[in-house]
Amino acid sequence: MKKAAEIKKIIWPVLLWLVFESIAVTLWLTKQNLFYLFNFTYIGTSVAIGIFLVQFRYQHARRVAQLLVGTYMLVYLGLLSHENMQMEGFWYYLFTGVFEAATIHYAVAKIFGPLVFGRGWCGYACWTAMILDFLPYKVPQKPRKKWGAVRYITFVLSFVFVSALFLAQVNHMERIMFWAFLIGNGLYYMVGIALAFVLQDNRAFCKYVCPITVFLKPMSYFSLLRIRCDESKCISCGKCKRVCPMDVDMTDNSRKRENGTECILCFECAKVCPKGALK
Ligand code: SF4
Ligand code: SF4
Ligand code: SF4
Repeated sequence: MKKAAEIKKIIWPVLLWLVFESIAVTLWLTKQNLFYLFNFTYIGTSVAIGIFLVQFRYQHARRVAQLLVGTYMLVYLGLLSHENMQMEGFWYYLFTGVFEAATIHYAVAKIFGPLVFGRGWCGYACWTAMILDFLPYKVPQKPRKKWGAVRYITFVLSFVFVSALFLAQVNHMERIMFWAFLIGNGLYYMVGIALAFVLQDNRAFCKYVCPITVFLKPMSYFSLLRIRCDESKCISCGKCKRVCPMDVDMTDNSRKRENGTECILCFECAKVCPKGALK
């Protein structure tokens, strides 16, 4: 019995690793580019390690994966390889018709992937949240604001910025996109840190400003992987909601649950549930 439970814990990380590995091998062979094998194997292995450690209740499991993937993407892909993985980079490569690293990254992590693993990107990989999660307000200290519309403004601004560059037919686009990556990231960190302190909420930037949520939220609504509550075990103690960084009503199993598309699969709620009602 105990052995079956242990095996069950290993299934999710292995499955996830296999999904990433099949993407890695498919892209490597179809694009004839070894980079994809390395890239998706590295990311898949890092996330699988994180999920594996979560299953065995290692306290910092999610942070391990987040630092492994986030640092790789920011430093290796962004700073060293000059790959703009921000929203602007996505528009840029989309407009040029190049289905390469940034567009593939968005398709896997932020557009189609969330149908399977929801906002897993936000919990285990994002380099912006990797820094924000070091701040002191892991659980929001103030009621949520109704500022969600801001994300549409930043989304449109990034689109307009890249469209304007194309319309003006500026030279040295690659170089401009690299500087846009540096400045954009700097701005994200500054705004994210300032908002976290003003609203006493590490994830305020994610809730109100991040343009990527325009993709992430609707797709993760249909996520296969999601926190479920066994209502027969729940005693309505409310401990789960008190530790949720994203204000999710995880005791409601419906897809329309409050802030359901914000869940980053951190499992903090499941960890504190005295009845083991959340899985
Ligand atoms: S909402 Fe945006 S900034 Fe926050 S974790 Fe997700 S992608 Fe990163
Ligand atoms: S912590 Fe567990 S028992 Fe308490 S309300 Fe949440 S799901 Fe129910
Ligand atoms: S605490 Fe639970 S509901 Fe809230 S974000 Fe984490 S996994 Fe999702």
